Amino acid sequence: MSEKFDLVVIGGGSGGVRAARMSAQYGAKVAIVEEYRYGGTCVIRGCVPKKLFVYASRFGDTFDVAPSFGWTVDASFDWPTLLANKDREIGRLENIYETLLDGAGVTLFRGRATVTGPNTVKLSSGEELQAERILIATGGVPFKPDIEGADLGITSNEAFHLETLPKTILIEGGGYIAVEFATIFAGLGVDTTLVYRRDKILRGFDHDLRDGLEDALHERGVRLRYGYHISRLDKDGEGVRVSFSHDEQATFDAVMFATGRHPYTKGLGLEAVGVQLNQAGAIVVDDYSQSSVPSIYAVGDVTGRAALTPVAIREGAAFAQTVYNNTPTTVPYHLIPTAVFSEPEIGTVGLSEEDAAARYRSIDVYVTRFRPMMNTLSDRQEKMMLKLITETDTGRALGVHILGPGAGEMIQLVAIPMGMNGTKADFDHAIAVHPTAAEELVTFKSPSYRVVDGEKCNP
Ligand code: FAD
Repeated sequence: MSEKFDLVVIGGGSGGVRAARMSAQYGAKVAIVEEYRYGGTCVIRGCVPKKLFVYASRFGDTFDVAPSFGWTVDASFDWPTLLANKDREIGRLENIYETLLDGAGVTLFRGRATVTGPNTVKLSSGEELQAERILIATGGVPFKPDIEGADLGITSNEAFHLETLPKTILIEGGGYIAVEFATIFAGLGVDTTLVYRRDKILRGFDHDLRDGLEDALHERGVRLRYGYHISRLDKDGEGVRVSFSHDEQATFDAVMFATGRHPYTKGLGLEAVGVQLNQAGAIVVDDYSQSSVPSIYAVGDVTGRAALTPVAIREGAAFAQTVYNNTPTTVPYHLIPTAVFSEPEIGTVGLSEEDAAARYRSIDVYVTRFRPMMNTLSDRQEKMMLKLITETDTGRALGVHILGPGAGEMIQLVAIPMGMNGTKADFDHAIAVHPTAAEELVTFKSPSYRVVDGEKCNP
């Protein structure tokens, strides 16, 4: 006899765990199935290990400026130590996830699950679970391009487990994961090249962030090659010989594909039960995360909405609120703050200048660039940038973009006034904290320029 649940969640990552816990707390009988490790991409092979690597990669910058503050530093780096400590921390977090689920009364299963009907889930063990509702939270997976020798390349999954730190690496991609890993490896002393088939990194971000980070990558010795892609990989001794679209060849110790992620719906059995998928393979859902089959819901990366942990968590929580707490809840997708943990860091919320100028007849742009105080005693010339975009008529803040130390932390707090439809006057009303970089956001006097009907002019 198969066991019966109110809810079976497939996928123990950010969205699935939140939905399972909250649904159980609202009184539902909940099971969750995970095929790899509880915590999912973010905890096991995404945000968390990445941020730990980012911290490791930033010590070099601190050591560089340390002599200007009177310090003498004789530092060396040990990759195995970082890996072992990272793995220990990830294991600790994984245990916490399992304990929290258990504590909420959720039944945990291990193994791969497939959907065999609108109300049935089959586990790789052969066990079958009955479910009044099924929540798909299977996330996304990185993919390698369909080229000869692709298996010689790695993705972010393997980058967290490299036995030795390569001396040279080629990264293909121009999104946030590509630039983050480029600065991680470069910061750890790896000779790093980034190739991207388009003409600039970070498509969709404000142009000042893209330009500023591009300059900083150059200064940090990361080679950028645009209009390139990898057409073939071959083994070359201990390394990998890369053939590029431009008939060029070069050998690297490691090659990493950061060319995007697919929603992980393959082999789940969804098409057979009538769940509608879009062209990218993502599950099509309504505002309440319900799929085309009424008993089947989906949250997180597998829905292709916004592939970020806090969004998956919000969607999981909104699902539980809607279905098990009688409170229909949607997620505010229009204002998602986000960070890129590159070096320097990016924090961004709201509209880019390009999008703001396209949507509003007249916008005011306030921009400042300066050397972070930490660097002023040394000869480091790298600048940070803060940018505020407002609607001219109303003064409403439309976008804030920051490049430099602490940008991720700053943007989290800027998201609060942005969500309250804050205006330039509200920013002005705040008393500055001195000396900080963030104070620039509340002390802008007059716009650097205005954009009216798409034309840049003096305010
Ligand atoms: P996931 O967390 O991917 O969880 C899905 C789970 O389902 C996985 O554990 C998987 O093993 C399991 N699963 C899949 N299929 C089955 C099946 N058939 N049966 C059983 N189990 C199954 N986001 C941020 O907000 N900030 C960041 O800094 C950030 N950095 C990132 C860095 C990297 C390198 C990567 C790859 C991602 C990063 N992300 C970041 C994105 C973030 O990790 C995802 O948006 C988030 O994890 C999505 O959560 P989810 O619940 O949709 O899926």
